[in-house]
Amino acid sequence: MGKVSIGLRGWRFDEEDIFTDAGGWRPLEEIPQEPRHRLVRLQVVMNKPCDACYLIHGDEEIQRCRVASIVYGEPLDEVLLCDEHEADFLFWFRERGGSTIAGEETFRDAFHEWFDDGGRAPDGYGGMDHVEEAPEELPDLRDPETLYEDDDLLADERPDFDDAAAADEGDAEGDNEGNEADAVDDGDLDVDDLDLDREYPS
Ligand SMILES: [Zn+2]
Repeated sequence: MGKVSIGLRGWRFDEEDIFTDAGGWRPLEEIPQEPRHRLVRLQVVMNKPCDACYLIHGDEEIQRCRVASIVYGEPLDEVLLCDEHEADFLFWFRERGGSTIAGEETFRDAFHEWFDDGGRAPDGYGGMDHVEEAPEELPDLRDPETLYEDDDLLADERPDFDDAAAADEGDAEGDNEGNEADAVDDGDLDVDDLDLDREYPS
C-alpha cells in the first residue's frame, strides 16, 4: 500500500494505517496516534483560509483569501497554504531555517513572522511533487471529542470564511480539481527524493 493525502495535500498517510484491507476506513481507535491526530485535526483545518493570504488580507478582506489546499507541520501548529503561497513556505522551510525548527512550538509563528516581514520565494521557485490525493471526504469520526478531551485537537481558533465566501470557495475548489490530475501518481514517485515519513517537505 502507498501514501495518500486526504482533503488537503501535504500531510501523507500510510494507506494501511487508515484503511482496512477491504478499503474502508479503520475505526479511529485502531489508527496509530500520529495519523489519528492528523485526521482529527483535518476536521478543523479543511476549508479554512491560507495562512499567508490571511496575513495579507486579514478579517476585513477574508473573502480575498484563497482556501487552503495544503497543510504542513504538526497538528495544532500546522501551516495552511494555498497553491500560490506554497512556494514561499517551501523556500522558508528549505532556505531560511524553517526545517531546523520543524516540530517545535515556534514553527508556525516563525513562518508567519518571516512572511509578514515581506519574506517571499524568488520568482519561479520550485514546488514539490505531491502524492496522489485520496478521498476528499473525511471518515465519520464518531464523537472524536471523547477521545481527545485533553488534546484540544478540535480547538478551532482559525478564522472562518463567512457563508457567502464559503460558497465561493466551494466553486473555486471545483475549478482546482483539474490541476489534481497533474499530481504525481503514487507509483511513479521517486522515493529517494521524498522524505515520505514526515509531514514536512523534503
Ligand atoms: Zn495564500
